[in-house]
Amino acid sequence: MKNTVKISLAGLFLISASNVLAAPCLKVTLTGTQGGPPVFQGQAGSGTLVQYGDDENNCSAVNLQFDTGRGTTQRLSEAKTPVGKLQAIFLTHMHSDHTEGLADMMQLRWHFASAGPKVDLVCSTDAKSPAGHTLSCAQFAKHIGDALIQSGEMAQRLVENKKRLAGGPADLINLMSFDPNETVSVVWEKDDVKVSAVGSRHIPGHASYRVDTPAGSVVIGGDAGNDTPKPPRTSSTSSHVEKLAEGADIIVHSTIHPAMGPDKNSGFPPPVYFRQSTAEDLGAMAMRTNSKHLMLTHLIPPLGAKAQGPYPIPGGPLTELDYESAVRDGGFTGNVVVGQDLTTLQLPQ
Ligand SMILES: [Zn+2]
Repeated sequence: MKNTVKISLAGLFLISASNVLAAPCLKVTLTGTQGGPPVFQGQAGSGTLVQYGDDENNCSAVNLQFDTGRGTTQRLSEAKTPVGKLQAIFLTHMHSDHTEGLADMMQLRWHFASAGPKVDLVCSTDAKSPAGHTLSCAQFAKHIGDALIQSGEMAQRLVENKKRLAGGPADLINLMSFDPNETVSVVWEKDDVKVSAVGSRHIPGHASYRVDTPAGSVVIGGDAGNDTPKPPRTSSTSSHVEKLAEGADIIVHSTIHPAMGPDKNSGFPPPVYFRQSTAEDLGAMAMRTNSKHLMLTHLIPPLGAKAQGPYPIPGGPLTELDYESAVRDGGFTGNVVVGQDLTTLQLPQ
């Protein structure tokens, strides 16, 4: 008995010694940078993979996916993070360019990881629009496999492998809904990793997230815009995101370039332009929040595109420099990352 105690104490010492040596790290990978529903040169729909760990597990003990646009599964495989390894998925809002990859992801998880664990799906409670309709993450999750159930495929596959969950991919989702309001609140936690959220304006139920870890912090703004839906206003950015981002190391944010503004005659619908944050205003906000890195994603328009969907880009395709210059016009002096699919930033650098 005495010997056993001695061995476990030695074991404990070894474990704590390796913990001291392992340096914590935070890795942020853009899994999709396409802005809005159009397709352009194979870019994946909006999404950000946030990973935390240490140098012994390649920074991937905790794997969190924020938004799941078209093609997220493919980008995750390129980022060497299988869908089955995600502990939680967070959705900013119920727009297809941020959600349509989830059906594909959950079907894959059902196929190969039905034995579990479930994945936490963190998103807004049902949000009623002033127009009368309801935006519902719960309904979206509940019906995520319906087309494949209705086609008969799921029944056919269940005959082949009875270990799969009878209810289809929805059975693998652990819904964790919250009311996104103006108060920043913790919505998900695991060990050293804490995720907070705040409600922000874009469509009803829109939320923005912040991940805090011992290696650093990152804010995922989503498509947030200012509470005042159009000018005159002091900024196109969200005051709620700004509050959430105070002191955050990295801000990842959907971005619209001023070239698409109503004053530039692209034909782009002004209400859609005004509900996004401009590159210039994001630069000013990132300066005010003392952030070190601003990662632009969900670029409207995409780099090199002649048009955003049906709307031509006044002055022709934009370059990385066009986006960075707009951010600098806002006064930001930190690191600007003009996002492309699989662009990665790791802390500490
Ligand atoms: Zn969007």
